[in-house]
Amino acid sequence: MSLLEVTDIQAMYGELKALFGISLSINPGEVHSVIGANGAGKSTLLKVIAGTMPATSGSLTFHGNDLSKLAPDKRVRSGISLVPEGRRIFSSLTVEENLKVGAYSRRKGHWNLNNIRELYPLLAQRWDRIGFHCSGGELQMLAIGRALMANPDLLLIDEASLGLAPVVVAQVYASLPQITSQGTAVLLVEQDMQQALRASTHTSVLLEGKVVLEGTSSKLNKEAIKRAYFGIEGRA
Ligand code: ATP
Repeated sequence: MSLLEVTDIQAMYGELKALFGISLSINPGEVHSVIGANGAGKSTLLKVIAGTMPATSGSLTFHGNDLSKLAPDKRVRSGISLVPEGRRIFSSLTVEENLKVGAYSRRKGHWNLNNIRELYPLLAQRWDRIGFHCSGGELQMLAIGRALMANPDLLLIDEASLGLAPVVVAQVYASLPQITSQGTAVLLVEQDMQQALRASTHTSVLLEGKVVLEGTSSKLNKEAIKRAYFGIEGRA
């Protein structure tokens, strides 16, 4: 039994269908990347898993339990934390205070303020700085740290590297092995396909709300990924 099983999920924004039957599964300690162009449905998929958007059909199980009836806060308590697109840090609170907000739905586990400081030494140097004055990279580390404070079994990261300087992207990705070494699985949405493939064990490529290619990241053919990503015919 996988940690998370997503089976044939469909989702709509009003009349507009955004997901057309998405399936994927994740095991503990895995990094699964979801890549795809703008509008492919990546954020929608994360929202459906986090529970901030309903699926119109299909099934979602986590630790073998049906997730579909669980409200977002209950999903956090069951072990799913989302790092949302845009990071959504409280701009008037300090780094430390933002991390403490993440502890509100805390489960037992490894992560606490001390080891978040060790995970991201840059954040430790900014401990009393308010969110408003943090750089994009600091905000991304803070958003991941805040999600980890709940001690999730599954961490969902939307747009892991969007808008960040390469040196910061490298720091964010360098932290993933330390996160998965605690058994936490990571599902990450990424537009940079090279980065996603390097960092993940499994990859799903989305196009117009469908999975058009999936597999073990190290075994996927780069040309096939590019064709799937851009929807170029003859991708099979
Ligand atoms: P991006 O990288 O641009 O965030 P994405 O792959 O995450 O793209 P989604 O944001 O999941 O894609 O969007 C999937 C589809 O749903 C697109 O056609 C998009 O226009 C549409 N969509 C997304 N959010 C909304 C919304 N709030 N209302 C209506 N349609 C939406």
